[in-house]
Amino acid sequence: MKVFCGRANPISGALDWVEESEEYDYHQEIARSCYADMLHDRDRNVKYYQGIRAAVARVKARGESVIVLDIGTGTGLLSMMALTAGADFCYAVEVFKPMADAAQRIVERNGFSDKVKIINKHSTGVTVGPDGDMQTRANVLVTELFDTELIGEGALPTYEHAHRNLVQEGCEAVPHRATVYAQLVESELLWSWAQLQPMEVESRRLVPPSGMGRCAGAHSVCDIQLSRVTPDSFTPLGPLCTMFTVDFSKPVSSAPRSYSSRFSASSNGRGQMVLSWWDIHMDPGGTIVCSMAPSWTYPEAQTAPWRDHWMQSVYFLPIEKRVTEGEEVALTVCHDDYSLWYSLQSSSQQDTNTEAPPCRPRCTCQAHLVWTRPRFGELNDHHRTESYVSALRSVLKTDSVCLGVSDGSLLPVFAHILGAKKVFSLEHSKMSKQVIQQVLEASSMTGGVQLLEIRPDQLTSKDLGGEQISVLLGEPYFSTCLLPWHSLFFWYCRTALVGILRPDATILPRAATLHMVVVEFRDLWKIRAPCGTCEGFDIKPMDEMVQRSLDFRESHESEPHHLWEYPCHALTQTRAAMTFDFTRCVPQQPISSQGSLPLIRSGCCHGVALWMEYQLTADIAVSAGLTGPVGEQGVCEWSRHRKQGVYFFRSPWDRLEEGRAAVSYSLTFEPSLGDIKMEFTVEQ
Ligand code: SAH
Repeated sequence: MKVFCGRANPISGALDWVEESEEYDYHQEIARSCYADMLHDRDRNVKYYQGIRAAVARVKARGESVIVLDIGTGTGLLSMMALTAGADFCYAVEVFKPMADAAQRIVERNGFSDKVKIINKHSTGVTVGPDGDMQTRANVLVTELFDTELIGEGALPTYEHAHRNLVQEGCEAVPHRATVYAQLVESELLWSWAQLQPMEVESRRLVPPSGMGRCAGAHSVCDIQLSRVTPDSFTPLGPLCTMFTVDFSKPVSSAPRSYSSRFSASSNGRGQMVLSWWDIHMDPGGTIVCSMAPSWTYPEAQTAPWRDHWMQSVYFLPIEKRVTEGEEVALTVCHDDYSLWYSLQSSSQQDTNTEAPPCRPRCTCQAHLVWTRPRFGELNDHHRTESYVSALRSVLKTDSVCLGVSDGSLLPVFAHILGAKKVFSLEHSKMSKQVIQQVLEASSMTGGVQLLEIRPDQLTSKDLGGEQISVLLGEPYFSTCLLPWHSLFFWYCRTALVGILRPDATILPRAATLHMVVVEFRDLWKIRAPCGTCEGFDIKPMDEMVQRSLDFRESHESEPHHLWEYPCHALTQTRAAMTFDFTRCVPQQPISSQGSLPLIRSGCCHGVALWMEYQLTADIAVSAGLTGPVGEQGVCEWSRHRKQGVYFFRSPWDRLEEGRAAVSYSLTFEPSLGDIKMEFTVEQ
């Protein structure tokens, strides 16, 4: 069977649907999955083990045999824990075939195969009875089916079905219950990810369209490492509220529900968003707790366990709401079978509120479909805007004819404000065209920028009313970009447009430079590190499976990550590896760069971080990676707006001493592919 995979095409700027073998698809799923990170999550593993031991002991104390149902067994880890704790038999259900096969190998290797039945099905397809998948219903239900939002992976319908069909009444459940917490806050930083903020350019005010301010925004959860958002970047407006609890040992309903929590506002402010996380109690007494609370909720001497498979969530309120200190308010959470959303009411409003709870938010203004959350943050970054405006100011003349090539960009609007004679902008979709159109209308600049929905290679001077372009503008930003160098699509556009550019045209940015630095991650390495053993169980077949998938094709590809969420420190100097000169067309021949980066600090070489810096003019540059020089101890501060590329070295990652090692690199930009092949080797 063939499957289609989306792949950014830096030459066409499109997201190509590439036909791949089914094998490719599953190798990707395994290679990029969270399994490793989950198995490295010691806090989770230890607490599951404690909870499972306690549940098995309770059933044994009742004189019953212990029959376990492990839904979503993965490596079989929780089943092996249950058997070690004395369970009599485990039914281990796993829907993902390669995982179910790995589980089979792992339980065999650990000597449990006669006591575990691996069932390669979705749990809702499992049957019970003499000819069924399970001989009898289970009396211990063990699962780990949660995501950052708790219910986003379908935990509720899975539990609902299991209680109806697969487990006995009064069964033990590990975890026993989950509780969702939320706190109302005001935060300029986080709000800049949700709404376009008014901005001033040359004393002209650019304002968001009114429909944008009233729009509830994207419905998808904003999951982030909240520990990396420091408490000085938000103001709590109320206490941490316990929103709701699900008891997994009793029948669970996946029907939509809402819950409210009342409190009096703790300070004046604008209620803009809710910070949320959950915890699970592994036992009925709540003595074994696995919590997702961010690190700043911990007392100073303690550190929060790190994990990437479960983070924290930010829920943006549909509309910001002023609250005054002491005011009684009600925070309401609603859920359907897969997602959660929040709203805020004043208490009086809530008393008289007989209406149904607010329905799931959806974007009505289109801006939240055109701009992702980091993109909103980027557009709202005053500092960045200032760099572009200064650069524009220095190149624009009164007779300038500008053409903007970037998706959903405000750069052409700035060029209009700065007095260019004519400004055109190429937009990739009707929707992004409409969004920019609305911004122009709201700011009384209708017609200031002529928006064209034409591909650069099809644009003619006729489309520009016979004009030749004197200034080509790009941030550059394209919504299909995944890795930093995918923005080189701008270079291909510039090349395609050569016929309608004046010979002396200014290209802004004039160049892009790919930078790199070798880093040691505090935690991110765990997502790619083999596990070996986990809580005493040999899970090497899992490591081997991941390794095979990494080797399958994309072994030497980097992956995109928002590095501001993942602390790392630099082990080498940063290096400008390659420069792409936008004042010239894309060359025919490859560009390559080789060299060596000596280690200047000791540590484990986990990987190489890569990012682009755009040279707007001779003296103004904008970085999509490091926001400043590397700190004294190698501390790196990363831009929040774009993802950086990470090339992970293959483990083992031995600790290396400075001065005794270097990382050699070889990079090749292949113009016919628009891609950069890279190889890095640690030289001991
Ligand atoms: N239990 C393992 C793995 C947890 S990851 C551990 O704790 O380490 C969750 C796994 O559940 C995934 O492998 C996913 O494929 C599987 N899964 C999720 N929902 C399922 C369902 N309803 N039925 C069967 N498998 C499911």
